[in-house]
Amino acid sequence: MKYKLDSNGRKRVTLIAGDGIGPEVANATRRIIEAAGVAIAWEEREAGAEVFKRGLPSGVPPETIASIRDTRVALKGPLETPVGFGEKSANVTLRKLFETYANIRPVRELPGVKTPFAGRGIDLVVVRENVEDLYAGIEHMQTPGVAQCLKLMSKKGCERIVRLAFEVAVAEGRKKVHCATKANIMKLTEGLMKRTFEAVAKEYPQIEANHIIIDNCAHQAVRTPEQFDVIVTSNMNGDILSDLTSGLIGGLGFAPGANIGDEVAIFEAVHGSAPKYAGKNVINPSAVLLSGTMMLRHLDEFAAAQAIENALIVTLEQGVYTRDVSQSGSVGTTEFTDQIIKNLGKRSERWTTRDHKPLNIKPLDAARDYVRPKSRRTIGADVFVESPVSPEELGPSLEAVAEGGALRLKMISNRGTKVYPTTGGMTDCVDHWRCRFVLRDAAATLDDATLLALVTKIASKHRWMHIEKLEEFDGEAGYTRAQGED
Ligand code: NAP
Repeated sequence: MKYKLDSNGRKRVTLIAGDGIGPEVANATRRIIEAAGVAIAWEEREAGAEVFKRGLPSGVPPETIASIRDTRVALKGPLETPVGFGEKSANVTLRKLFETYANIRPVRELPGVKTPFAGRGIDLVVVRENVEDLYAGIEHMQTPGVAQCLKLMSKKGCERIVRLAFEVAVAEGRKKVHCATKANIMKLTEGLMKRTFEAVAKEYPQIEANHIIIDNCAHQAVRTPEQFDVIVTSNMNGDILSDLTSGLIGGLGFAPGANIGDEVAIFEAVHGSAPKYAGKNVINPSAVLLSGTMMLRHLDEFAAAQAIENALIVTLEQGVYTRDVSQSGSVGTTEFTDQIIKNLGKRSERWTTRDHKPLNIKPLDAARDYVRPKSRRTIGADVFVESPVSPEELGPSLEAVAEGGALRLKMISNRGTKVYPTTGGMTDCVDHWRCRFVLRDAAATLDDATLLALVTKIASKHRWMHIEKLEEFDGEAGYTRAQGED
């Protein structure tokens, strides 16, 4: 069940007004949805700054979690997050708690909103993976001077986001899906998304499928944005790219978003809490309103969603703008909202709204071991060592440690570049070394006792902080080479 009804037959929605400008934009959206005649039972709940202040480090109280768990649908204003210190983002916590793995961010050119791209007909959707990748936030200081963030991407995570992107194309009558990755550099993580995309694309022969490298995608999105229809990408790529695309059509004031999972959907604008504008009645409520129309479609209220989009377009065509669109002659948030309400029922002569079908969200196999190889083998290990010595000193020292054992030192790299045996390059080194040991017998399998014995010997001479096994699955290497490694 995508959503629930209350005893009066109204669709239940958890409403989180949010911080800063949040209450103004959330209230404007609620007024317009109610004026459009949709019967919604709003359940107002809290999250964000006030909750942090009360000493709850997650910023999301149990009552809010319980409400969303129950209603399955939330409309959310922006929540403030301290930058570079303090508590984790309550936004990210909400997305992750409810496994809303897809962040859908449409951008469409709107009438009268002047941008360098006006008239080009930009109308695209970024479908961003929302719970994996670097945003899993698994970080460690591995040495006093070297930080690590794990980029975790799963086959299942890639498959469900890629499938959803094709389903968005089907639901919205779109023709093309681009998959934007950095698979040329990160062949296993980003490469997993590319390979999965290419496999899933075969199930949607009616939709043109293209892979594009993310940096080129950013470049193309600025030069010829009208070429794109749906772009599916990983979490961090999508975060950056979707802010860029929202800039193309007039900024964050017009950029809506939906966080979709198999069980729960949370609708929110791309923008944040813009604290300097809080309470000033000057901000643009369109982004949260358009997030609200995405929510209405999720609630099967297609006609109301279309009516609200039409009323917004007519309002803009009438030259009624908020300050972010026009400094001169702008109206406040409340007047802009009133005008949209007045325009409900009107349609633009020139701008058509897109017809939508219900989005088909197909849950994948719930098995945790989603990929089951027929064979697997451990062929060695990377042992990460902290040491101030040179590679010419560290290498022979580790070779001596491994002498006579089943493993041999193959190479040492520093931040990904091979430095021992020397390549003749001029790599600057820090005190963080990846020391790759492989089995001398290429047909054997490494057992834990052998690996632990090696690590114990290394520990007698050097400080180690991390081990990563080198695995082969179905004969394919589950690791990459260092830069310069043969
Ligand atoms: P921001 O709140 O999005 O604001 C950046 C700028 O975008 C504003 O100064 C304003 O530009 C423009 N803007 C944003 N929303 C607008 C609207 N509705 N109407 C008109 N203009 C709008 O980004 P931030 O200042 O980087 O972040 C502030 C806080 O929000 C931080 O605590 C951050 O963590 C949080 N945040 C939350 C979310 C979320 O809840 N999903 C998302 C992003 C950020 P001008 O200054 O040019 O007028």
